[in-house]
Amino acid sequence: MPEFAFVGRSNVGKSSLLNLLTHRRDLAKVSATPGKTRLLNFFHINGEWGLVDLPGYGYAKVGKGQRLEIGQMIARFVAERANLRCVFVLIDCRLPPQPIDQEFLQWLETTAVPFALIFTKTDKLGPMRLKANIEDYKKTLGKRRAVLPDILTSSAHDGSGRAEILRYIAARLEPDAAPGA
Ligand code: GDP
Repeated sequence: MPEFAFVGRSNVGKSSLLNLLTHRRDLAKVSATPGKTRLLNFFHINGEWGLVDLPGYGYAKVGKGQRLEIGQMIARFVAERANLRCVFVLIDCRLPPQPIDQEFLQWLETTAVPFALIFTKTDKLGPMRLKANIEDYKKTLGKRRAVLPDILTSSAHDGSGRAEILRYIAARLEPDAAPGA
């Protein structure tokens, strides 16, 4: 089954987004304690695709050894999973580009696995501010690469972005779906 993985810094809103996408409240437990989700979780969606919930990276309160372990778990999965169609990297839309996300993206590009960015928590910003933040982010990304990744947005609070993300996934379900289709 084609798989789509979701990853991001702890507290970026990944569990909330996964619950929004699947319309299941309890699919990915929203963490009262950030950094709680440490394992890879797999879900089958409509018998059509696999959703992979990767552990959050970069949570300051877990020890260095554990951070390394989480990083290795993500790296091994992404690098070795043949049926992985896309990795969605979640980014908090309110924050300026964070070094840890930049590092992760640079590493991800070395794997040649398709990926896209999802800016989360868009309800927290007005439309002008959101647009400006995304433009700033693109500028940062553009310093290191000629082609920018696809960018999607989401809000688990008002539900925006859900349809676009599901469409993005649906477009990549066919075996011969061209990257960037
Ligand atoms: P995770 O650690 O990445 O799985 O993040 P969670 O989904 O557990 O969310 C972390 C915190 O951000 C929680 O307090 C959520 O209620 C909040 N949150 C998540 N998504 C959104 C969103 O779209 N909008 C707003 N305003 N808050 C969100």
